[in-house]
Amino acid sequence: MTSTTPAAGRPTVATVYGYPRQGQNRELKKAVEGYWKGRRTADALRETARDLRRTNWQQLADAGITEVPTGDFSYYDHVLDTSVMVGAVPERHRAAVAADPLDGYFAMARGTQDVAPLEMTKWFDTNYHYLVPELGPDTVFTADSTRQVAELTEALRLGHTARPVLVGPVTYLLLAKPAPGVAAGFHPLALLDRLLPVYARVLADLRAAGAEWVQLDEPALVQDRTPAELSATARAYRELGGSGDRPKLLVASYFDRLGEALPVLAKAPVDGLALDFTGAAAAHLADLAAVGGLPGKRLVAGVVSGRNIWINDHEKSLTTLGTLLGLADQVDVAASCSLLHVPLDATAERDIDPQVRRWLAFARQKTAEVATLARGLARGTDAIAAELAANRADLASRAGSALTHDPAVRARTAAVTDADGRRPQPYAERTAAQRAHLGLPALPTTTIGSFPQTDELRTARADLRAGRIDTAGYEDRIRAEIREVLAFQEKAGIDVLVHGEPERNDMVQYFAERLTGYLATQHGWVQSYGTRYVRPPVLAGDISRPDPMTVRWTTYAQSQTSRPVKGMLTGPVTMLAWSFVRDDQPLADTARQVALALRDEVGDLEAAGTPVIQVDEPALRETLPLRAADHAAYLAWATESFRLTTGGVRPDTQIHTHMCYAEFGDIVEAIEDLDADVISLEAARSHMQVAGELSGAGYPREVGPGVWDIHSPRIPSVAEAAALLRKGLAAIPAERLWVNPDCGLKTRGWQETRASLENLVEAARQVRAEV
Ligand code: GLN
Ligand code: ZN
Repeated sequence: MTSTTPAAGRPTVATVYGYPRQGQNRELKKAVEGYWKGRRTADALRETARDLRRTNWQQLADAGITEVPTGDFSYYDHVLDTSVMVGAVPERHRAAVAADPLDGYFAMARGTQDVAPLEMTKWFDTNYHYLVPELGPDTVFTADSTRQVAELTEALRLGHTARPVLVGPVTYLLLAKPAPGVAAGFHPLALLDRLLPVYARVLADLRAAGAEWVQLDEPALVQDRTPAELSATARAYRELGGSGDRPKLLVASYFDRLGEALPVLAKAPVDGLALDFTGAAAAHLADLAAVGGLPGKRLVAGVVSGRNIWINDHEKSLTTLGTLLGLADQVDVAASCSLLHVPLDATAERDIDPQVRRWLAFARQKTAEVATLARGLARGTDAIAAELAANRADLASRAGSALTHDPAVRARTAAVTDADGRRPQPYAERTAAQRAHLGLPALPTTTIGSFPQTDELRTARADLRAGRIDTAGYEDRIRAEIREVLAFQEKAGIDVLVHGEPERNDMVQYFAERLTGYLATQHGWVQSYGTRYVRPPVLAGDISRPDPMTVRWTTYAQSQTSRPVKGMLTGPVTMLAWSFVRDDQPLADTARQVALALRDEVGDLEAAGTPVIQVDEPALRETLPLRAADHAAYLAWATESFRLTTGGVRPDTQIHTHMCYAEFGDIVEAIEDLDADVISLEAARSHMQVAGELSGAGYPREVGPGVWDIHSPRIPSVAEAAALLRKGLAAIPAERLWVNPDCGLKTRGWQETRASLENLVEAARQVRAEV
């Protein structure tokens, strides 16, 4: 690191783009859910929200953040808030919104008895979900800046320097989808010219309310964009930049590099850019130099990762910041993206070893890091000497720890050869061996793994935690549940049985709790959607498996029935995707460690007589990198880790995999590369479309496209399921078609589960008779 000397001119600003909304004790969740249940008035809800905003801004200011964000707060979702801001309320929700804006807002988010909500989908490659705007050629936008203005005014009155943060117009349209019933060929971006005046109005209102700067978030520009989309971007910012009565505009991007959108924004008549400099986006440093820097503009440098939970490397950041001083007029310091994606406060984690806790940075710690770096940039590194020393010591403790460097794990991963991930027999030979071994009928029936997680099961887990029952008592209850699940499946006539996963609280957490190298948090909640928060485990160190994790339950189940029982595991990609993963080595290396631990579990299951083993990878598709150029490298390690997990089994052991989502067109080759024998997928809602996609792409193996949409309590009739199966048969021959639901049944009730599975089996029987 070069010793940084003070920057001249205006003081360096420390800022963030957003902060966790929920509050220290998830007060927002309680308030919103209380309002839904009629236990709280709207005024009480607003009061809680105001308190949370005040607390958050104060926390930021106390940590040394000199420009706080406003408008990042939300009762449910900030993209839905943007739809309200621009008046894009779907026709079916207008009456409710007119009658009561708050209730109408929640109706758009959650639906009502009669009206469907907006669709929900993932916010880029995070685990946050937003409500998808529905737009059509008839959409009329109208500006409603009330909330934005009110929150800015609130912050200014409290004495903060504040910068409203809005979803930018291009990203808003790129995230939207055509409203139901809109003719094919309509793309929401066609509405840009109608939307820009509405944004200009909101910007003018914010200016009038005292905003010097407004931030427009354009993360959609870090994805591959067409020339038409790039020129729309140029037009949008030419127009907004040229409008008279406007605040200064800061266009922000995050999650990856801007690529070809960087020169477009660099040339636009806006006043500043906020760029991500973490991970792969560190390439922005070279990209910026290549476009000649940002003369005359403000650069907000996102040098502290806003989405992982690890302490920053200050020296590295200071080097980056030092280089940037030569490339822009003013360099400010920020987290790379909104801190919405990380939990609030690592110091609350009293159960984590204090030494290890020092490696963690949640939102509060990250704001302090940003403030420290801003001070270092403004006043020179001597001004932050103590923080730098502490940072160096914490990084060294992490690098030298036995948790992050287990020689046995390292030796084993280093010794992995390509052959470990290759089953020696080709699929065609294996399938014959498996047929002989399993003796299944054509169109065999199975389920995806979990059966209803009843109140009794949850109570049993709570009782165990609270010490009201002991481990033996708990395990008795689990075994009783397994017997019940098996008895039902036998009676219903299902061919490949499952034990029902009653012992699992969550498909990732269950394994994380049993693998060395993972940590659990007590308060590490992050918003998944609306009032739903998740507490992802922390993959902190080298991964190993001290003991078998599932073998006991699977073999118990097998001992109770003569039909084949399928063992159930969560795959390495999903174990990473739904955790906070260490950032001190490539993901590929971490995935390989997890794969080897799971490989041992697969081996133990097989040795204990499990004829079928399913390794779930629902996250394989969703973790696909944002840019196509990065897909191949990701898919290479992702599929390798799956093969490493499953590649050690005998030819007659049948490997299944399962994925939930329906859009597979672009990864069929990767699915084949998993070298699994059977794949089950979600297909009921899209009427078996995925079966056609797989066979169209020449997928040669066995497939179970779901014939029961388990996301709804609706029971599919025999005729309905049979019709879907016949559709499946049009794409996949009978000897390769399986019959199963879309996904696991843990969220379903027993009543609909019984009826639906009985209908599924009957449909299979009928269609079997036809082939
Ligand atoms: N085996 C898991 C279950 O049945 C799979 C869940 C998933 O795909 N998300 O619950
Ligand atoms: Zn699923």
